[in-house]
Amino acid sequence: MTILIDSHCHLDLVEQTTPSHLIHAAQQAGVHYFLSVAVDLEHFPQLLAISQQHPNVCVSVGIHPNTPCKTEPTVAQLVELAQHPEVVAIGETGLDYYRSHGDLRWQQQRFRTHIRAAREAGKPLIIHCRDAAADTLRILQEENVADIGGVMHCFVEDWAIAQQAMALGLLISFSGIVTFKTAKVLHEVARQVPLEKMLVETDSPYLAPVPYRGKVNQPAYVKHVAQFIAELRGQPFDLIAQMTTKNFLTLFQPTFAVNCSTM
Ligand SMILES: [Zn+2]
Repeated sequence: MTILIDSHCHLDLVEQTTPSHLIHAAQQAGVHYFLSVAVDLEHFPQLLAISQQHPNVCVSVGIHPNTPCKTEPTVAQLVELAQHPEVVAIGETGLDYYRSHGDLRWQQQRFRTHIRAAREAGKPLIIHCRDAAADTLRILQEENVADIGGVMHCFVEDWAIAQQAMALGLLISFSGIVTFKTAKVLHEVARQVPLEKMLVETDSPYLAPVPYRGKVNQPAYVKHVAQFIAELRGQPFDLIAQMTTKNFLTLFQPTFAVNCSTM
């Protein structure tokens, strides 16, 4: 049986529906497991509750680089929250010079705090990077991410950057952006990335893939991302699904991994 995992979604941010509905719709499309990613700490209890109600959902803990904060998180605070068995990763964290401006040292410091928390908690990182590839890679290298592991989520950079990220031990995750006709540079990356380095995601409710571009995204649509990559590479859809599922389970080791291996 072919199963797909949405490696990055925000089940709590999709409006006018419930996580249960989204999960049900996804299951109809063969998408059985989900990593619902944190963007702030205020809503972390609600995120955790979704995971506790749905054993096929795991979560992360962290603060998105664009989320405004009155007080910056500490390493100890993130590590403590990461102790819940539902938490499989730290993030999403990283750098975003597209939406934040001015002196962004606070953002870099927040990123380092997350990397250090990931090391201490023994959990991989979910990395967001927009218009900041050079600094992101530099900080990851300085903080020795290679012995922590993680994923460059919603990858939109070129093949050279992808190679540098993989050299640091990171996986490359493709979102609906890869299905956009104009994303030629990204198509090249999706053709070349080794199967054992690849994940797929929706980033719901954002960035719906073709043919839903412009609409509200949902985890069920990760199927279109995987299908597009399969066609692009001339490989069977089942192979893309199997490999991305295997890579996900290896990186995040969610408690539901036990059920996946018996499917
Ligand atoms: Zn996200």
